[in-house]
Amino acid sequence: MNHPIFAANWKMNHGPSEARAFMKTFLTQYPRHYDRTIIFFPPAACIETVDREVDGRSDILVGAQNIHWEDQGAFTGEISGQIARDAGATVVLVGHSERRHVFGETDEETARKCAAAERAGLRPMLCVGEKLEEREAGKTEEVVLRQLRAGFSRLAQMDAFNPLVAYEPVWAIGTGRTATADDASATHGVIREELKAIVGDRARAIPVLYGGSVNAGNAPALLSAPDVDGVLVGGASLDAGSWISIVRTRLTAEIAAEELASGE
Ligand code: PEP
Repeated sequence: MNHPIFAANWKMNHGPSEARAFMKTFLTQYPRHYDRTIIFFPPAACIETVDREVDGRSDILVGAQNIHWEDQGAFTGEISGQIARDAGATVVLVGHSERRHVFGETDEETARKCAAAERAGLRPMLCVGEKLEEREAGKTEEVVLRQLRAGFSRLAQMDAFNPLVAYEPVWAIGTGRTATADDASATHGVIREELKAIVGDRARAIPVLYGGSVNAGNAPALLSAPDVDGVLVGGASLDAGSWISIVRTRLTAEIAAEELASGE
């Protein structure tokens, strides 16, 4: 298992003043942890604010929720990978289900955005996941593999930019319905096998996160499931208290070490 990652997707919530207040509360209550990494995906206008509050802590990264596939130009309202990076981002979400299904982003566009991230030196976190009707039609694997292959198809050097993947079944996002740990793990296994086909043994180092109505109650089971390397959290990451209880999830390795120390 990779070092687990807890990622917060704030979507279109928290402007700079709220983001600053959130981060002050969070950082006061969350000292540096060496066994996990936190990533914040705030709105673009707050990347710099969040990065400034993080103040170089190596266990916390800041990411962008989206970038354009071109590096610059007449694209009003968009930000490029370079702009996101300059603001403090080191990671970027690509192909989030809201980008795909609310804004109509295609597989080809996700591929171009991953390539733009690579050019800008950002790690793309490619989001994949099936809709409810696709799941019910038994097409989960087909959809996820199509999105995965397409999304990474234009990367020049996949290992150099160390991408991440988030499996987010669309029916679980913001609905309160979560995949069971077994279901998530099964799809993560399929993703891992495909990553192996793309990059060989290096696939083990690519974190595959689960997202979809994760909260402090279901995070422990999801994080202890095989091939689940972290969680991507929307709604439950918006309140500092709720987010702190998620990022403090006790990990299987931690529990096992305590049991060993106490001779159980
Ligand atoms: C998300 O937006 O990536 C997400 C997983 O949202 P939620 O946790 O609210 O389902």
